[in-house]
Amino acid sequence: MTLHCHKLGADLPPILRSQIAEVLAQESSLLFDWVARYGSPLNLIWPEALQENLAALRDVLADHGIEHALYYGAKVNKSPGLLWAALRAGAGIDVSSLYELRDARRLGADGLKLVATGPAKTPAFHKELIACNALISVDSPEELEDLINGPLSETSAQPVLLRLRPTNQGNSRFGMPAEAVIHCLTRIAQEGRLHFDGLHFHLNGYRWEDRAAALREAADLVAQARRMGFSPGMIDIGGGLPIRYVDQQQFQAHLATQMPDDYRTGKVPGSFYPYGSALSAAEWLRQLLRAEIGKGCTVADYVAREGLVLAMEPGRALADQAAITAFRITRVKALGQDTHVIFVEGSSFSACETWFASEFLIDPILIPAARSPSTSPPVRAYLAGHSCLGEDVLSNRWLTFPVAPQAGDLLVYANTGGYQMDLLENEFHRHPMPARLRVMRGAEGQLTLSSDTIEEV
Ligand SMILES: *Cc1c(COP(=O)(O)O)cnc(C)c1O
Repeated sequence: MTLHCHKLGADLPPILRSQIAEVLAQESSLLFDWVARYGSPLNLIWPEALQENLAALRDVLADHGIEHALYYGAKVNKSPGLLWAALRAGAGIDVSSLYELRDARRLGADGLKLVATGPAKTPAFHKELIACNALISVDSPEELEDLINGPLSETSAQPVLLRLRPTNQGNSRFGMPAEAVIHCLTRIAQEGRLHFDGLHFHLNGYRWEDRAAALREAADLVAQARRMGFSPGMIDIGGGLPIRYVDQQQFQAHLATQMPDDYRTGKVPGSFYPYGSALSAAEWLRQLLRAEIGKGCTVADYVAREGLVLAMEPGRALADQAAITAFRITRVKALGQDTHVIFVEGSSFSACETWFASEFLIDPILIPAARSPSTSPPVRAYLAGHSCLGEDVLSNRWLTFPVAPQAGDLLVYANTGGYQMDLLENEFHRHPMPARLRVMRGAEGQLTLSSDTIEEV
């Protein structure tokens, strides 16, 4: 039995892919066994979800005849199983650290499959990127000088992108304005050891309209680069594709009716991640490709006409539906007449939005341990972690449970794969790191878990 807890009349049930819904509804005894065995919280991964997400984007690109390079933004989740799934499906990886690079290499990625778009690369990271001829997105003229004065190979030209800071991102510390891009091109022209592959940007926010505007600026720079004698082959539009963890209308209705009393803090957070996007990632990409960037010329027309590869680095959108997190309830404590706090084994470091002064706006699912049906009235509660920090709260939002939760029950958060379950995880109080396992179907259809380590995926 699974029970949805919610705000009465404004609930936010998670959208679940069928494989996950089945486990929660029909195999919940397995879930209890797994938590008993591996501890709480338990992070479960479905790597094939990432491959389905990739396929949906590729279908759109193929429909428009677009040459493309899809790189999975690896920082979204620490799972090697997801890296492996991306590589197996023929995608590349966007690595933002020496450690992500090494993991991708150990899983078989060669330099052609790697791009490094992060802003603050160290000399050691540059060195290993160069050693495998991975594509480097240069964030600034300063980074370019570091490369030129550093360990460039004398025998092969190092491919680089230049990261543009579009005018609508004026306050960003990432990327560089058009004049600095031109300056970098002048430097590259004097330097035989670098090859200018094209332009890159990655924007805040999730609007395809902003990407279309940035593409217009990038197109101007592509034209200028051609006039300078370069032959750029790529425009890279970064990540930030939308996701839909909850129904868009339910999400909007929830936002519209929120009140300070809905939160134990007495305050509605100032901003929320758009968990109920109007567009799926694939629909978003379709809109972008059909956007006009010149007279009668769409993004798709432009990319084809210029013979460019359209690159992108989705993180969250590829991890959509790829993971859930199960927390075991330790204690349900009455706080007042009709309010409770539910303590879980685990912490807000594994469902971490409250640390960003926001809230993970999807409802957790209660899975009661086997017991006689409770006749208790609905219970209002917020969720707290097992640490002694007052701020260790998974949900400041008051949740209404149709049946009183009890110690030993499980609370499951869907869609924790994207910057949620492991961004802040740590060993506070010396609790061990949460286990992360891959869920697979065996030959007879039985569900099994397998290790999600770099050695075993
Ligand atoms: C984080 C990041 C991404 C991925 O962003 P998502 O919102 O997860 O798609 C892509 N590119 C760069 C440069 C990033 O910093």
